Amino acid sequence: MKKLERRAALCLVLAGFLLAGLAVFLFRFAADGSRWASSPFNRHLYSSEGVLISGTVLDRDGDVLSTVEGGKRVYTDGKTRRKATLHVVGDPYGNISTGALSAFGQKLTGYTLLGGAFGAEEGSDLYLTIDADLNEVAYQALNGKKGTVAVYNYQTGEVLCLVSTPTYDPRNIPKDLETNEAYEGAYLNRFLSSTFTPGSVFKTVTLAAALECIPNLEGRTWTCEGSVQMGDGVVTCTGAHGEQTIRDALANSCNVVFGQLAVELGGGMLERYAQKAGLTASYSVSGIHTAKGSFDFGGDLSQSELAWAGVGQYHDSVNPCALMVYMGVIANGGKAATPCLIQKVERPGLPALPQFTRSTGRLLSEETAEKVADMMVNNVAAAYGTKRFPNMDLGAKSGTAEVGADQKPHAWFAGFLRDEDHPYAFVVLVENGGSGADVAGTVASKVLKAAVQ
Ligand SMILES: [Zn+2]
Repeated sequence: MKKLERRAALCLVLAGFLLAGLAVFLFRFAADGSRWASSPFNRHLYSSEGVLISGTVLDRDGDVLSTVEGGKRVYTDGKTRRKATLHVVGDPYGNISTGALSAFGQKLTGYTLLGGAFGAEEGSDLYLTIDADLNEVAYQALNGKKGTVAVYNYQTGEVLCLVSTPTYDPRNIPKDLETNEAYEGAYLNRFLSSTFTPGSVFKTVTLAAALECIPNLEGRTWTCEGSVQMGDGVVTCTGAHGEQTIRDALANSCNVVFGQLAVELGGGMLERYAQKAGLTASYSVSGIHTAKGSFDFGGDLSQSELAWAGVGQYHDSVNPCALMVYMGVIANGGKAATPCLIQKVERPGLPALPQFTRSTGRLLSEETAEKVADMMVNNVAAAYGTKRFPNMDLGAKSGTAEVGADQKPHAWFAGFLRDEDHPYAFVVLVENGGSGADVAGTVASKVLKAAVQ
């Protein structure tokens, strides 16, 4: 009898192991199955060169950007169109990790947990949120310069335009891509994966902090004589701005005023507001994680270093996507939709999967957001010129970010439209482009005119 009991116990232990093993497999199958199926080793879905030969990528209007013909991956006609959409569509060999062919490969193969990759030769139709025509306008507006342009709907999260340059034609990949300096960083999606010195666009963060933490800010005036001594260092402006309210100081982009405000606020408070603005965190854009910005507001900074950090210089660096979302937050009363790149995925014989809008949550109080927005609208009237942006209720801030004595500054222009039909926030960065208001502002003007048409 003892023997029988021992054997029964052994059987139970063995059955336990079997069940545990099955549980582990089922869990991994559910969690990793799509990755196994869309592995480049799967000859069913990838050519011998590792090119994904399943699925079609379309823009929001249904224009095909890349599909499969005769077992080969092909791209849309029109060289400008291919170059302007490269960083959202992807190159055939997976060198651009943010492109749909890489980042959304599993969705393109039509893999499902129950059906596997069955019927995957045909693949899915993946509709991106971008408008390829608007991408072409933005690409041409950048006029051969390195940089990025993006526009998104801050109510729905849809990214309507996303261009990163330098770019290249995925149909005729240049032979000197890896060696020619003109293509340096071409695999990088500057909008999602890079960070840059923000310059004066960061004053929108210092302003939000000052509005909430400094009593009677809007009743005060400051006099700018072109520079101010702060501790051991000097903070300079492009000229003497004279007596100003906070509203004038933002329109003039006065370093003297904002540098003094930064010191008055202190490093800890600036750090808190850079965090609150979402500039130090990473967003998930349809599963693609953006680069995090970084700042040094540490306690051992001198007064002038802290002042420069408060006007977007010193060690400040921001990701263009996070900055664009912050513009949406300002326009939308303190919170905005987080950006997404997939409009819908249609699988053969199955209903389209719905995409959900996600929110940043509250980053600014409604009152602060409205005050910052009003002052940014005033910037356009007072400094940038309403004629360049006809029939637009536009709020904006330019930045001319110093990046070293031997280089031209980065040109920034970021802002939003207050328009129920076109609730768009945008960011333009022209690397080493010169003046933010002139160079990046001109790119923004061309792209926004096309976006509201
Ligand atoms: Zn000034």
